[in-house]
Amino acid sequence: MNDALTLDHGADGVLIATMDLPGASMNVLNEALSSALIGLVERLELDASVRGLILRSGKKDFLAGADIDRLRALRSAQEAFEASMALKHFIRRFERCGKPVVALINGLCLGGGLEIAMGCHWRIVIDDGRARLGLPEVKLGLLPGGGGTQRLPRLVGMQQALQWMGEGSQVRAAQALSSGLVNALARDADDGLAQARAWIAANPAPKQPWDAPKFRYPGGDSRSPAVAQMLAIAPSMASAKSYGNYPALTHIMSSVFEGGLSDFDRALEIEARYFAACAISPASKNMMGTLWYQLNALKKGASRPAAPARSRVKKLGILGAGMMGAGIAYVAAKAGIEVVLLDSSQAAADKGKQVSQALLDKAVKQGRSTPEQREALLASIEPTTQYEALRGCDLIIEAVFEDRAVKAEVTRQAEAIIGSEAVFASNTSTLPISSLARASQRPAQFIGLHFFSPVDKMPLVEIIIGQETSDETLARGFDFVLQIGKTPIVVNDSRGFYTSRIFATYVMEGLALLAEGVHPRSIEVAGLQAGMPMPPLALQDEVSLSLGLHVAEQTRQDLAAEGKPYVEHPGEAVLRQLCALGRIGKKAGQGFYDYREGDKQLWPGLAQLYPLQAQQPEQAELIDRLMFAQANEAARCWQEGVLRSVADANIGSIFGWGFAPFHGGALQFINAYGLPEFVARAQALAAQHGERFAPAQCLLDMAAKGERFEEGGPASA
Ligand code: NAD
Repeated sequence: MNDALTLDHGADGVLIATMDLPGASMNVLNEALSSALIGLVERLELDASVRGLILRSGKKDFLAGADIDRLRALRSAQEAFEASMALKHFIRRFERCGKPVVALINGLCLGGGLEIAMGCHWRIVIDDGRARLGLPEVKLGLLPGGGGTQRLPRLVGMQQALQWMGEGSQVRAAQALSSGLVNALARDADDGLAQARAWIAANPAPKQPWDAPKFRYPGGDSRSPAVAQMLAIAPSMASAKSYGNYPALTHIMSSVFEGGLSDFDRALEIEARYFAACAISPASKNMMGTLWYQLNALKKGASRPAAPARSRVKKLGILGAGMMGAGIAYVAAKAGIEVVLLDSSQAAADKGKQVSQALLDKAVKQGRSTPEQREALLASIEPTTQYEALRGCDLIIEAVFEDRAVKAEVTRQAEAIIGSEAVFASNTSTLPISSLARASQRPAQFIGLHFFSPVDKMPLVEIIIGQETSDETLARGFDFVLQIGKTPIVVNDSRGFYTSRIFATYVMEGLALLAEGVHPRSIEVAGLQAGMPMPPLALQDEVSLSLGLHVAEQTRQDLAAEGKPYVEHPGEAVLRQLCALGRIGKKAGQGFYDYREGDKQLWPGLAQLYPLQAQQPEQAELIDRLMFAQANEAARCWQEGVLRSVADANIGSIFGWGFAPFHGGALQFINAYGLPEFVARAQALAAQHGERFAPAQCLLDMAAKGERFEEGGPASA
């Protein structure tokens, strides 16, 4: 035993084991805790004076999951199989020790934490609103390897278990109880302990349901016709939907299905084999690296200057109560910030506030909020036309029309009122921050905070540093983004910043393919096969072709004014042609698609405008073009210093425009492909399709030196 676990052996023979990893804010299943738990099970088996066990946590959460360091270190399938079997083995010993074991669950109980809890005979959840139970492994390309794919379906039924594991869902206390995942709820820790003791006294020698000879799965097992039918088609459906990019999904299904045909111990072995396949897959390595390590590093402030100390915004002013301003008002008010929402007419400002009302009405209806919380939140948003109301704001976010003159005017008016310490941010999506800062009296306190639509759902904010933005302003902008629960990436100022610039390369490549006579359906399928959330033509319709054309024309003008050359992308001609026909996108009911009654069909007229090539390219070629266009442009952003860290690049790409998550982000895509291989393929694409594919100089240099993109900059492979 070690100090990861403290034991309290009561006079009644009940042992209370409290998991409390020293120096950590959360319990994770690391070496120290695992060996302490193995010691605990030995004591349970051997010490006759112990009548039963209550397993609980000394932290605000029960157990957040596996130690990702250990998972990432797994190098071979055999190692992964053995690690999974070792975990299962001690959980199995808990449930077969012949004495009652109760899990008293508080806060997060995820992954390995829930797998241990399911290996206890009785589960009680402290119902204080914080409890969340789930097996989120799929989100890192993994499969629950501690018996989760076997115990969960035996507790809640195969269908429910597959849904939760497939989505990585977290369930709250009430649902955990009604589904059969847990056995009881407690008001607080004392109530939980009392219930646990009572249950132990009444059940001196319990068995798990699946160890009883007559055990039946709730809702039927792999042999029952309804389940067998569902499970026969579900893996192929899931695989088709994800284009085979997420093997963990199908492995989870196979493990559940095959496990249901075997006895329990054999089922655990089956699971370990599927776990091993996932744990060593490139997808899980990519996802762990980016969506765990890099994401956590960003959230801990890797891109924030060390000084000054953390700050909090108390009062926020938003200029422009349109789609973006209204969304920002909602997320800020939700984070407990007082909001002034200003527009040029009271009606527009009120309309912006109504967005929060509508979102909150829905939340109340769905039980995610209460009428009292809704009223309190709404009371913190003041819709107005009066700049005077901005007095006392420590941050202003401007979200008026994308027009320099309008932005300059509202900047001037707001700065006349706000205090000298206040930070002024623009939510512009295209205009360089340094140029907007020229309208400011205090450009050092001017910054870009680029939100994504819809603001209440999108997790990212791209922070843009202008030429004169101070470190303190950056720190305060960064703290605000964390304060409202979003993930910040930080980039240097440039046309299109980072996210809009790379996103455009994906969509425009789709348009270029169309212009060449590639079948539009093949283009769309290639986008999805590549792992992008939406295909390029449909996406261009969503953001509107007229906007795409406007940005291209603006860029052409700006570059001409700066005396710089403009290289037209071959997709631009497609934008012009369709816009000239009034086919400007979804909002007009017609673009690359025709939109009718909630349905859409590719516009048949595309065939006349862009006659099909006789010899259509392979899908793999299309996928390469769509992905290389993005990854290469991300490398250019790295080279130009627009990007400041690999984590910003990878997280920004996945959270900002949905860059295929299984690749681990736009720069990780290059790592995983291999630098020399990427360079060679990019050169071949450039020779065939144009200079835009010519590999960024930094890639040539890194490939020559045997480097790859690592945190802190390029590092040796
Ligand atoms: P919108 O047209 O929905 O809203 C703009 C609002 O600004 C309107 O309510 C308008 O009445 C108000 N406004 C205009 N002039 C004003 C003035 N002088 N004083 C006060 N209010 C004024 O636009 P939006 O989509 O919310 O975009 C706002 C900003 O956010 C733009 O800079 C845009 O580029 C940027 N942005 C938009 C998106 C997006 O997806 N729509 C994403 C990121 C950033």
